[in-house]
Amino acid sequence: IIELNNVKKSYAENHVLKGINGEVHEGEVICIIDPSGSGKSTLLRCINQLEKPTDGEVFFNDEDLAKMSEKELSKLGEEIGMVFQSFNLFPNMTVIENLKLAPMRVKHLDDAEAEKIGMKYLKRVGLADKANAYPASLSGGQKQRVAIARALAMNPKVMFFDEPTSALDPEMVGEVLSVMKELADENMTMLVVTHEMGFAKKVADQVWFMADGYIQEKNTPQAIFDNPQEDRTKEFIGKII
Ligand code: ATP
Ligand code: MG
Repeated sequence: IIELNNVKKSYAENHVLKGINGEVHEGEVICIIDPSGSGKSTLLRCINQLEKPTDGEVFFNDEDLAKMSEKELSKLGEEIGMVFQSFNLFPNMTVIENLKLAPMRVKHLDDAEAEKIGMKYLKRVGLADKANAYPASLSGGQKQRVAIARALAMNPKVMFFDEPTSALDPEMVGEVLSVMKELADENMTMLVVTHEMGFAKKVADQVWFMADGYIQEKNTPQAIFDNPQEDRTKEFIGKII
């Protein structure tokens, strides 16, 4: 569903991505791990169009992003659900209003349809009783589950998670990871930037280890964690275990 072909991204003299290759197939869960600051967020942004790669190609459903029309690009934006570290909920709207906004504005659903879809996904993340609450009254874990429900309400083909649990207190990490695991079990295609190695081990089909602008090693979680091949990966795995 996604293909990356020698994707590079530089900010002035800062060469962040130096040639990223990879494929994400339908139903796969890919976890991206790294020592830190290797350009993970930049990579996600190059796929969802928030950034333009300096070089290389990104394909979505076999279509080259660089050759897409404005209309196709905005369609692509709808097909990728994003969940960020910092939730990004609208504080002046209730939970259900947060969920209804994009389906109404972007997909032009009417209020009743958007409400129905919103409630469906709120139930799914176990927060139907918070529909009329404001984000400020929720815990971090609840906010992130709302953010996941909001992304799902657009019926995306792929979900991107950029360190979804890094801003959470430790006791709230589990509830968010378990929602993500359920999504994975339902065969959602997911690209997950995370430092939760337990999640990567249990849930990922593939782990991509990124460092120094490259994906240094790509393999099943078992191979990456138990039998890394590249020196850079060995060093990292050695430090975290
Ligand atoms: P973290 O683990 O901190 O989330 P990351 O792996 O997501 O890091 P990025 O946020 O992609 O890394 O940033 C990688 C590098 O790119 C950093 O050196 C950062 O300063 C630089 N960078 C990112 N976005 C921009 C931007 N919009 N303009 C200039 N430099 C940027
Ligand atoms: Mg980041």
